Amino acid sequence: MKRFLLPLVLIVLGPTLFAQINENPFKQLDNELPTPNVYRNAAGAPGYMYWQQRADYEMDIRLDDENQRIYGTETITYYNQSPDPLEYLWVQLDQNVRALTSDTYKTSTNQVGEQMSLGQLSRLEPTFDGGFKIDHVKNDDGEDMTYHIEKTMMRIELDEPLEPEESIEFDIKYWYNINDRAKDGGGRSGSEYFEEDDNYLYTIAQFYPRMAVYNDVDGWQNKQFLGRGEFTLTFGNYDVKITVPADHLVAATGTLQNEGDVLTRDQRGRLELARASREQPVVIATQEEAVEREKGKSKREKTWHFAAENVRDFGFATSRKFIWDAMGVEQEDGSVVMAMSMYPKEGNPLWERFSTKAVAHTLRWYSHYTFNYPYPVAWSINAADIGMEYPMICFNFGRTEPDGTYSERTKYGMISVIIHEVGHNYFPMIVNSDERQWTWMDEGLNTFLQYLAEQQWERDYPSRRGPADKIVDYMKGDKQYISPIMTNSESIWQFGNNAYGKPATALNILRETVMGREQFDYAFKTYANRWKFKHPAPADLFRTMEDASAIDLDWFWRGWFFTTNHVDIALANVRQFRINTMNPTVENQRMRQQEQEAPRNISSIRNEEEIVSTFDETDTTIVDFYSEYDPLEATVVDEEEFQQYLSSLSEEEKNVLNADKYYYELTFQNIGGLVMPIILEFTFADGTKDVQRIPAEIWRMGTEEITKVFPFEQEVVSIVLDPFIETADTDTSNNYYPSKSAANRFDLYQSRQRGEGENAMQRNTRASNMEQSGSRR
Ligand SMILES: [Zn+2]
Repeated sequence: MKRFLLPLVLIVLGPTLFAQINENPFKQLDNELPTPNVYRNAAGAPGYMYWQQRADYEMDIRLDDENQRIYGTETITYYNQSPDPLEYLWVQLDQNVRALTSDTYKTSTNQVGEQMSLGQLSRLEPTFDGGFKIDHVKNDDGEDMTYHIEKTMMRIELDEPLEPEESIEFDIKYWYNINDRAKDGGGRSGSEYFEEDDNYLYTIAQFYPRMAVYNDVDGWQNKQFLGRGEFTLTFGNYDVKITVPADHLVAATGTLQNEGDVLTRDQRGRLELARASREQPVVIATQEEAVEREKGKSKREKTWHFAAENVRDFGFATSRKFIWDAMGVEQEDGSVVMAMSMYPKEGNPLWERFSTKAVAHTLRWYSHYTFNYPYPVAWSINAADIGMEYPMICFNFGRTEPDGTYSERTKYGMISVIIHEVGHNYFPMIVNSDERQWTWMDEGLNTFLQYLAEQQWERDYPSRRGPADKIVDYMKGDKQYISPIMTNSESIWQFGNNAYGKPATALNILRETVMGREQFDYAFKTYANRWKFKHPAPADLFRTMEDASAIDLDWFWRGWFFTTNHVDIALANVRQFRINTMNPTVENQRMRQQEQEAPRNISSIRNEEEIVSTFDETDTTIVDFYSEYDPLEATVVDEEEFQQYLSSLSEEEKNVLNADKYYYELTFQNIGGLVMPIILEFTFADGTKDVQRIPAEIWRMGTEEITKVFPFEQEVVSIVLDPFIETADTDTSNNYYPSKSAANRFDLYQSRQRGEGENAMQRNTRASNMEQSGSRR
């Protein structure tokens, strides 16, 4: 019996699932979005009782350059600004993702390939002893506090609940081994070893236990860190002292408090020049000086002191290999931000040419679309193979060849990653979304602005993502490997396309095609300003974009963010009509023309050929054969009837009749399921064109097929649907009237080559690797 049950169940389920996918695309999002409340209102703005927590940090950090270790003590002051008493606090221990017992190793899936790198093998049998070693957690009386470490999260237990408006101060002492990014399975931070001069370059982040966010959406956001879903962090002030070898330079979040202790007189003088420079970066620490520093290893130490206000995190970079340049960027409000770069000689001459300029460019254009950059500095640090963002500082790839040359690909890759990572200052460092939950809220918005900024760098900049046509291959792919954008960060297929490419493209389509640039820019700016230095959730973005523009976008959010449907609209049929003028002279002439153009039957053609070949032209029989009778000739009666008809018409009706327009009835089919505006380019007989833009709401009464009539003065000779490739239509072969066949090509190859070198296991591996195709930046 049981065997027969299964197919029955499937039959019942089938139509239900299908109906869900084909739900009315214009149904409002009420069921998908949380109910507005006093913390987040229905307009998408912070509500009148909006609150958020605050955490201040005082830290003493020491880098052990000989053993690649970080030693730290921190005092966290946590302010409970929520309406709730808190029985315990959650602190994030992100380094534990590298602990030998990490769930990241346990839950990663692997396959054995024909070739395996050492890095891949090290993930199978991790040997690097990462993770925080906690020495103590003490309260402000110096007494040990009770804590429990649950993988990458630590619960600090409180004797008494922390009441609203109270704050608590506690100390954590810890250390950890710094991962070598090349050997220990990559990573957003870590060390890079340069064998040639036996030196390290450190990009240090997630280096201290950080407060988890407690908010009105999730309570404590203490979802474990598995590696993909990034960081959800509270704003606060930082006071950080970093002790490094005396011959190191340090770049960090915040402003340097003790220039006199750590910079030479020359460096301080050049820094002053850089502060005044607006066009060109000024070199503060030269390549010659860096090469000199590389040669020795100072036994002395120096402590660099940084302070930062209202930031959600802190990162730093340090090395004796660093070159340093900087320039001032003046903003619209007159404030000056220092755009700065540090890089080893391995990045030159690429970095001295472009890095700081790319930072300045990013600040100008991102500020243009959002708000003035509110921090005093913005750093770009050169680090091999990664792009990663922190407040005021980011780590970016881009190295030259050993002979100092570089390809255009390397150059544009470097400029793009700098724009992207510096851009992250705006999303999520300032507009502080929950990265652990939603990768797209920072990566998607940032990739969209990255595209706009890239296009302002130079004409036809080779952007990888942004324009609608670049997302087509992903959208038409196998739905089994596509997730809706509204999917938690850890469970996304094709990470890069899902969380970066598709939302960036969707926003660009909103801007160019659905809302228009002016309305979009106004609404987007409203969102950025409402939520800067706050914690927005997806509904806050969706609601603000509608609230500020009076454009109902529920259909757009539903289709692009909640489904995996794609755009494929077909121009399925075109019919031409004219008004019957009732005028016998005009109508009979039309009919005559139609008859002449109509195909003739085979017998008629053969009869004519036969008679022409059989008889001489002078023969009288042939004259009879071409009869002069014209059944379409207008008679006097026809003419009288027409005059009667005319006299029965009003002036307005006569005008319509005399205009004698062409009417085109177009039928459109929605094959992909995603409704979109219909953009049409009509070309007329005289070569002129007319572009019509029809809002997506045309689909509201027929989601699969609709028809619409277009009147024109002239005859239309061709029609193109989506002529400016702006809707991400995955199949444009059905977009033309008259229809057009694509110039496809096929490969000619010798049959013995087919399938060689790829066995079944490799094919399977390739399929399962599809999810890994997006690299994290
Ligand atoms: Zn990013």
